[in-house]
Amino acid sequence: MYRDVQLHINGQWRGAEGGRTIPVLNPATEEVIGTVAHASKGDLDAALDAAAKGFKLWSKVSAYDRAKVMRKAADLLRERAVDIARLMTLEQGKPLPEARMETLAAADIIDWFAEEARRAYGRVIPARGQGVYQLVIKEPVGPVAAFTPWNFPINQVVRKLSAALAAGCSIIVKAPEETPASPAELIRAFVDAGVPAGVIGLVYGVPAEISEYLIPHPVIRKVTFTGSTPVGKQLSALAGLHMKRVTMELGGHSPVIVFEDADVDAAAKQIATAKFRNAGQVCVSPTRFMVQEKAYDQFVERFVAYAKTVKVGNGLEEGIQMGPLANERRVPAIEALIADAQQKGAEVKTGGSRIGNKGYFFEPTVVTGVTREMRMMNEEPFGPLAMIFPFSDFDEAVEEANRLPYGLASYAYTRSAKTANAIAASVEAGMMTINHLGLALPEVPFGGVKDSGFGSEGGSEAIEAYLNPKFVSQAGL
Ligand code: NAD
Repeated sequence: MYRDVQLHINGQWRGAEGGRTIPVLNPATEEVIGTVAHASKGDLDAALDAAAKGFKLWSKVSAYDRAKVMRKAADLLRERAVDIARLMTLEQGKPLPEARMETLAAADIIDWFAEEARRAYGRVIPARGQGVYQLVIKEPVGPVAAFTPWNFPINQVVRKLSAALAAGCSIIVKAPEETPASPAELIRAFVDAGVPAGVIGLVYGVPAEISEYLIPHPVIRKVTFTGSTPVGKQLSALAGLHMKRVTMELGGHSPVIVFEDADVDAAAKQIATAKFRNAGQVCVSPTRFMVQEKAYDQFVERFVAYAKTVKVGNGLEEGIQMGPLANERRVPAIEALIADAQQKGAEVKTGGSRIGNKGYFFEPTVVTGVTREMRMMNEEPFGPLAMIFPFSDFDEAVEEANRLPYGLASYAYTRSAKTANAIAASVEAGMMTINHLGLALPEVPFGGVKDSGFGSEGGSEAIEAYLNPKFVSQAGL
């Protein structure tokens, strides 16, 4: 059922030049389930050539017609969601309902950007001279190189792909080698919907080799990346050297601030479900849970009680709430963070260990007694790991929230409108959600500040990243 994944270049699905492939593993069983084509320089050249031609073609298609093709792709994705979700669970590990939700949410994202295509308005600026028209026209930036990770194999691609296509750009996607089949099916939906040859390229291989080749290449005019902060900095530097525009959606270490006037039970339940979604491998995953002193014991108790109920297992099985970690290297990474904290005096309230020795399963883990000297309080955990610690007053909470170089998502719980306003104004983050889980809808901005990146992958801001404003001043002679 899991078919070998091919490249998509110039309208063709095909293997790599020379037939090289990379094995794909199921993280729940560690079995090889298929292969993905490993692109060579020759394949990248072909993709670049096609992207240049595709851009000439697609940028001339009216926004109205681009939107029509995109909406058809969204419908195809909805029709195929059950099968695509299965592929995603097999290669990534997340529970099947989460995979299905991600696929259906992608269709909504495509629809949103299809509509945005028709709203990429320019403007008319009042002129100083009689009979002069000063126009701002939005033009697509050109062919895009997009690099996406394995945690949301479809979602991370669709935000970039839809915004680029809506703007009239062509795009080469370097999708994740660990989870290649589901993003390939996303692209198949666009191809089957009638996106012309050359407009979308899909490649896999050695990430660093591909980014080092594509980013400086003169055909590429824009770079977009989702992944870790160190890699994002490297790719931004390379893009800067070649004067390419960038969007960077990088790591986070999201603070959760629970004030003592909050509904503590409801907050603990809600934020704990968010914590263990996708085994915590989410850039906006809540990680540093700070709870005001009076509410601390109650919050810890409820949170730990929930963590103990999370059903961990193969995501294909009914009732599973958390799958394995997505790849082998995440297991020692999480273990090392926990060992470091324990050695420095932290208490593991629940979890803390790998489950079994087949599949990359890990226990939902809650740690208390944490200090700023511990690695997990400074490095993005990217796993099912929650650190809970008390705070005394508003200023202390803000100071801790803003202590790290990250600034992606943040969360707060309070019944006071005054506190809600104040905390939203004080935390250095690209996003804050208060008393509910309200992030990542297609129509709202999605992005970070500080080391968490640059630019937005949601809302009307997202399409702007793929548009150049051209100024035209016109007079009658
Ligand atoms: P990593 O830093 O090696 O890779 C992260 C992603 O970037 C992967 O998809 C990888 O293929 C890609 N990548 C790596 N080097 C690249 C390069 N030179 N050019 C282009 N792409 C490149 O880390 P990892 O082990 O895959 O994941 C662990 C860390 O990555 C996590 O701790 C987390 O910080 C981060 N991450 C973040 C997100 C996110 O949604 N922001 C997603 C996945 C991983």
